[in-house]
Amino acid sequence: MKDSLASLFERLSRSSFRQRFRLGSQEQQYLANKGLETILEHGKDFIAKRLAPAEIPNDGKQTPFKGHPIFLAQHATATCCRGCIEKWHEIEAGRALNQAEQDYILGVIAHWLNLQESRPPKIRATPSTSQKKAKPKSEDGQGSLF
Ligand SMILES: [Zn+2]
Repeated sequence: MKDSLASLFERLSRSSFRQRFRLGSQEQQYLANKGLETILEHGKDFIAKRLAPAEIPNDGKQTPFKGHPIFLAQHATATCCRGCIEKWHEIEAGRALNQAEQDYILGVIAHWLNLQESRPPKIRATPSTSQKKAKPKSEDGQGSLF
């Protein structure tokens, strides 16, 4: 039926367009706050409402480019619209997605999100003043800074 995840992600890695998508700091924060499980619940809902129907009036435009981790994952994995799903995942457009297909799409998205989580954070939140390893001795002293 469809590619294994490994070969799908191998193909995606050769698309410079798909590779551009990363979680921004806003989405990373949101993911960290909500947790992956909740985020995937949202994803399930997005898939059911925005991708699963047979007819989608704004197909190709239904997935924003930021604002939710799932959106980024969708663009990165070519599950953003039925056109891309047909092209990349060989699930034809123009008919409703069955449950197995919706689960498959969620699985692809989850896989991408898991890969992002294991990536070192792109942006340092604030320049840290406590970056240096605290010297055990100066713990309760005045640790001379200069
Ligand atoms: Zn698309």
